[in-house]
Amino acid sequence: MSNKTFTLADDLYAYLLSVSLREDALLRQLREETARDEMSRMQVAPEQGQFLALLARLCGARRTLEVGVYTGYSSLCVARALPADGRLVACDISEPWTAIARRYWRQAGIEGRIDLRLAPALQTLDGLLHDGEAESYDFAFIDADKENYPGYYERALRLVRRGGLIVVDNTLWSGRVADATQRDPDTRAIRAFNQQLHADQRVDLSLLPVADGLTLALKRP
Ligand code: SAM
Ligand code: CA
Repeated sequence: MSNKTFTLADDLYAYLLSVSLREDALLRQLREETARDEMSRMQVAPEQGQFLALLARLCGARRTLEVGVYTGYSSLCVARALPADGRLVACDISEPWTAIARRYWRQAGIEGRIDLRLAPALQTLDGLLHDGEAESYDFAFIDADKENYPGYYERALRLVRRGGLIVVDNTLWSGRVADATQRDPDTRAIRAFNQQLHADQRVDLSLLPVADGLTLALKRP
């Protein structure tokens, strides 16, 4: 996985950041703190966080979902893009990583918009469906364990309204999806998921070479 736009040469990537990234001091601090963690490569790229915020704004999102919080960079970006009464249901299984996220949500003054659910995300999403929340979300971001992507996607597709957007991360997987010699479980899972989405007529589709590959699936009317 990659937490920069890996398809760009370093000098062009630096240029892109220099003329488009508007990362503020709090997000930078979170990125610097996370960089000390051995799993920091899991964090979304900064230009990707900014893009997720723009997408949430573009679809007028008020009710949103996130599967895979880690230390909170993407959730902070999206939650700040919501109106004051907006809501983000944030799913993760890690108490220590999300404790860092909660600290930053609090500092940003948006903790009240975020409903953190510490449980396997399939269970949380099934609970939302059971509670009658189908078709009530505007935006969902999927960025957790890759083998469960089909399960997260199917549930998110039921939870978002028609015209709602599902964004899925790591769909280019550092290029390994296009290398037939790579046969590890995560690469195979992402390849199969990408093929499944390609054939899925319930959504309009675009796979962008942003960060580690970002797939947009817009639920059709
Ligand atoms: N979006 C995050 C960010 O902005 O930095 C990065 C998320 S990281 C790639 C994946 C996260 O998924 C980890 O925090 C991990 O604990 C979580 N995760 C793994 N398996 C999970 C599961 N079954 N249910 C919920 N979360 C899970
Ligand atoms: Ca990711």
